[in-house]
Amino acid sequence: MNLIFLGPPGAGKGTMASRLAQDKGIPHISTGDIFRENINNGTDLGKKVKSILDSGDLVPDELTVELVKDRLNQGDVSNGFILDGFPRTIPQAEALEDFASIDAVILFTLPDEEIVKRLSGRRVHKPSGRTYHILFSPPKVPGKDDVTGEELIQRGDDSEESIRNRLDVYRKQTQPLVDFYRKKNLLKEVDAGPAPDEVYEKLTANLP
Ligand code: ADP
Ligand code: ADP
Repeated sequence: MNLIFLGPPGAGKGTMASRLAQDKGIPHISTGDIFRENINNGTDLGKKVKSILDSGDLVPDELTVELVKDRLNQGDVSNGFILDGFPRTIPQAEALEDFASIDAVILFTLPDEEIVKRLSGRRVHKPSGRTYHILFSPPKVPGKDDVTGEELIQRGDDSEESIRNRLDVYRKQTQPLVDFYRKKNLLKEVDAGPAPDEVYEKLTANLP
């Protein structure tokens, strides 16, 4: 099952993708996670994209497409995969058609004021990518990762200024993908507003 998770920043794509990936035994491929991993490790790619991620703009299409193409060449995708945060532009979606076939695109919808609440309360454990929310899914001990007890951080791009830019970028560059995939009859909409268990239930009910 080859899936794309589409939707605004903070809708819960990563949270749902990591749960579904575990249940189905297929990889969760998040371009944002791959970029952040490269930034943390100080690679050439990381140095190139750091300021772009901080601002909330998009990494150039060509670079992002090559990265995903390489990732989908690895053996672990033979039973399926979840693309989380890719494609994010029409050129990316068109490029993807040349090297992958997609079974469904799940669109997670959430009003802007909820998006801002989710992003501003998001906390992450940097080494593992585990994601929490200070109100909606708090860690057992405030500020600490449940598994390792290590410090949680707030992502640099979850600042107010960057959130505003990311919402703008989503509307201008990513939203057109909704029509793109609807016309191909691939789009399934899931209301991302309810609590995580309920969203997950609706997600699995919508899978092909
Ligand atoms: P995205 O990958 O779409 O940017 P995340 O999965 O990182 O979104 O979720 C954004 C924030 O919202 C995180 O802090 C996460 O814990 C929280 N969150 C995710 N799903 C829900 C939900 N259904 N209800 C409340 N909070 C949620
Ligand atoms: P969010 O939690 O907001 O959904 P992601 O973790 O998916 O964010 O992405 C974080 C940042 O990584 C984006 O703001 C952008 O700078 C970069 N990025 C991730 N995926 C892509 C992509 N497909 N194309 C271009 N840039 C991307």
